[in-house]
Amino acid sequence: MKLTEILERDELSLSYEVFPPKTDTAFESVKGAAEEIAGLAPSFISVTYGAGGGTSKYTLDMAKGLKESFGIPVLAHLTCVSSTRETVKNMIDKLSCAGIENIMALRGDLTEEQKNSDRADWDYAYAVDLVRELKESGADFCIGGACYPEVHPESSTQKEDIKHLKEKVDAGCDFLTTQMFFDNNLLYNFMYKIREAGIRVPVVAGIMPITNANQVKRAIELSGSFMPQRFKSLVDKFGEYPDAMMQAGIAYATDQIIDLYANNITNVHVYSMNKPEVARQIHRNLSNIIGKK
Ligand code: FAD
Repeated sequence: MKLTEILERDELSLSYEVFPPKTDTAFESVKGAAEEIAGLAPSFISVTYGAGGGTSKYTLDMAKGLKESFGIPVLAHLTCVSSTRETVKNMIDKLSCAGIENIMALRGDLTEEQKNSDRADWDYAYAVDLVRELKESGADFCIGGACYPEVHPESSTQKEDIKHLKEKVDAGCDFLTTQMFFDNNLLYNFMYKIREAGIRVPVVAGIMPITNANQVKRAIELSGSFMPQRFKSLVDKFGEYPDAMMQAGIAYATDQIIDLYANNITNVHVYSMNKPEVARQIHRNLSNIIGKK
């Protein structure tokens, strides 16, 4: 099923993300975690892709396995910046042959060396190049793109970032998924600005339940996300107690999701970090809300 069919519905879509391992030995345990999440019957599951394609086989195997065994829609991520055109085209063919209908078209992060090098001879400089490649492949993919309520770190202004986002959508993105954020007002403000810029596709809000104190540091490093004082107090109080931190982090994420849905943001993607327990508790917390218009 194409994700646009789900994302355009007027009810809460709750989806989860898994990231494939880097080795064969870890594959079975991550597969088990992904299957437990699939057992919750989420709207869809996304499977990330290692930058440069290092885990491409696992992304494909995991997405195909979840689709075939559980019949739930899957979203396979694909990055392009550190890959050749031949590698990317080959992967697109494999995804199409495996019956994967939904692809998240991403550029991937740049290494420090790449940031300072001349991009003229790169096969792909931006995600928009991958979106065009997917469109030209002839396969009828539903294509997603990433967006950044707090501005992508490489953009000097939000205006510039939204201008490039519009180009990506015009090239063929059917929906967008946001970077994680911990203050819903950032999302509401962003939604206003992108709609004003003429971006009309569905937007999926990315929520990361922080379940241990170390994750906070990593989340900020990765995304540069703003941490509201309310959230910092919670980490200060419970950070040293793993069980309490997990409960508080899940409660905070649940609260964010309820507020989003109450404000008509119907599509929420949970960065569940291969943790079925986190997905299970979020799903349970929202059990009387899922399905309500
Ligand atoms: P782009 O859309 O290309 O944007 C990158 C920057 O370039 C932005 O600042 C943009 O404004 C600017 N830009 C775009 N077009 C132009 C242009 N024509 N001229 C000048 N500037 C331009 N990484 C992984 O490795 N694997 C994953 O599976 C993965 N999944 C992700 C899922 C989501 C929802 C998100 C938000 C991120 C994910 N990432 C993943 C991280 C992502 O690869 C990085 O954030 C990366 O730095 C940017 O990718 P992008 O697709 O947003 O790039």
